[in-house]
Amino acid sequence: MPGAPTMRQIEELMRCDRIVAGGFFGNDIRPLEEIVQADAATLKALKATSDQLAQRMKALRDLGLPYLGNTVAAGEGLEVRIDENRGTLICPFGDGTRHFKTITHCRRLADGRQRRWSDLNIHLIEAHGFFEGQGCAFRLEPADLVELLLLR
Ligand SMILES: [Zn+2]
Repeated sequence: MPGAPTMRQIEELMRCDRIVAGGFFGNDIRPLEEIVQADAATLKALKATSDQLAQRMKALRDLGLPYLGNTVAAGEGLEVRIDENRGTLICPFGDGTRHFKTITHCRRLADGRQRRWSDLNIHLIEAHGFFEGQGCAFRLEPADLVELLLLR
């Protein structure tokens, strides 16, 4: 079976527990492409891009990383805390990339709203436009991220 995995193979892998418990789809029965397209449409309507979000998520992670486990002010009314989990996760899209299990927690001081993301989330958003399926533990709503991180 030479060559890159097909979308169907990727999707099968992502729906099972092989990489992360519960898989990447939660209870979302939509095909992978449909999930990606729906989230891209949401972003477009908000005049934001997955790349903008990924860059911001990385910047916030990098800001908190030296203070591992401690909450630090991140500007724009946000604070971040990084939790390190040992080990790496492999990208399910078959591009051979590995990502630390670092989790970034980001909280808005004004109303306590918070979101968390893993390094794999950042990669999935940046490289694949994938925010995970509905009901998945690490699903990120593009509209929530835009509001929290891009101040829209
Ligand atoms: Zn990837």
